[in-house]
Amino acid sequence: MYEGQSFGQRYSEYCEQKKGSRRRLRRVTVAAVLIVGVAILALVLSDQVLPIEVWATSEKEAPQVIELDLREKTVEQTPQETVAEVKEIRTTPVVFIDAGHGGNDGGCFAGDIVEKNINLSIAELVQGKLEELGYEVIMSRSTDTYVAKEDRVRNANDRNADIYVSIHQNFSDVKGVNGMEVWYDGTDMQRDSKRLALLVSQQTARSTGAVEREVRGDADFHVTGSTQMPACLIETGFLSNKEERAKLTSQEYQEKLASGIVQGIEYYFHPKTMYLTFDDGPSEQNTSRVLDILKERNIKATFFLVGENVERYPEIARRIVAEGHTIGIHCYNHDYQNLYQSVESFVDDFEHARRVVCEVTGVDAVLFRFPGGSINSYNDNVYAEIIEEMTKRGYIYYDWNASLEDAVAGAEPTQLLANGVETTLGRKKVILLAHDVVYNTGEILEDLLDKFPEYEMRPLNEQIEPIHFKGSSAVG
Ligand SMILES: [Zn+2]
Ligand SMILES: [Zn+2]
Repeated sequence: MYEGQSFGQRYSEYCEQKKGSRRRLRRVTVAAVLIVGVAILALVLSDQVLPIEVWATSEKEAPQVIELDLREKTVEQTPQETVAEVKEIRTTPVVFIDAGHGGNDGGCFAGDIVEKNINLSIAELVQGKLEELGYEVIMSRSTDTYVAKEDRVRNANDRNADIYVSIHQNFSDVKGVNGMEVWYDGTDMQRDSKRLALLVSQQTARSTGAVEREVRGDADFHVTGSTQMPACLIETGFLSNKEERAKLTSQEYQEKLASGIVQGIEYYFHPKTMYLTFDDGPSEQNTSRVLDILKERNIKATFFLVGENVERYPEIARRIVAEGHTIGIHCYNHDYQNLYQSVESFVDDFEHARRVVCEVTGVDAVLFRFPGGSINSYNDNVYAEIIEEMTKRGYIYYDWNASLEDAVAGAEPTQLLANGVETTLGRKKVILLAHDVVYNTGEILEDLLDKFPEYEMRPLNEQIEPIHFKGSSAVG
């Protein structure tokens, strides 16, 4: 997410490239087999060695053809080339699972319960579940052996793993302490480790009911710091806590832990989709703050603008466009009474806003959002006609299926956060309503985004199927 593209995009592009190179490899193979076929046929027919010209290959390549084992379907390659091709044609994610400690390094312990054994049991369950889902899994160890942390990291880097997840158990002198912690190296913004850590924590908490103590970006571990791929380390619980220790040693709880870790990894590679939408702007300070946060995280959103505000803050409107967000029309003047008086009053206001947005930003907006949503208490008699007219004019409207409810006056920041999380209901596709003109929305935006690691944030465009309120007579 920090490199200009989401992992999903990069991964599908990567797969496309690999398909291309597979096709090239196939073509080379087919050509080689054909050449050999023709040569063998010629040998059989002539029953003698053919003049060298017939082979039509360079001296360097000729021995390969002559020495070809006919049982093989492909031309032999040098070992170096083979390694390169194996790397290139990889299309499934490779997950490195690191069971902490091992051998004479037991980790923490309580009586005869030793951390290294629990780590390995959970890691093996994770491995099994991931492989069932089609992932390629590399284990740092599969037996009770000592592996130096440098070797674990070198192995993951050499094998070019896509992510690294290290599994550990915790210990505290305070017996009552329990729950899980997930750590990552927050100093390295090039790797998407934070999202991985948030997902592993979130999903494991969901599957086990364990306390999510902390997701910490100040990890100073070799396995999270020296790995080249996104990496996190999960401490699944405290061996020092009697109740938690009993759970951690049970097969049933280990299954839950493994399921959570695997689900986190699943969402890392296959996130759900959220469209963040901001209505009523631009405003000078609040919109700028929202834009700063989105820019920092390289997230693109959609802004449904109010014409009057665009005239007031044209620079902010232009900044929205310059930073790659989608612009839609909300209205020119946010006056429900006037807007929903008739089809004409709505369309007049809308076209006014659209002209202003076009003059200021150069964007010829097609997307729009009804003030108050497509069906509201002001437009009961007229919404169907307005929708019909607007659709005829080629405009596309978007309602929402989740909301911060931040337009409610006096709402506390924590309440907005809770609204945002609760109203998404885990949907695969979410269009979230927020208002960039509201101060508290900017206040909670960072925390809100951290609550949604399972979603990939995208801007709306004309190809995205809209969400419409039920009862609407609009088609599609
Ligand atoms: Zn440990
Ligand atoms: Zn509005």
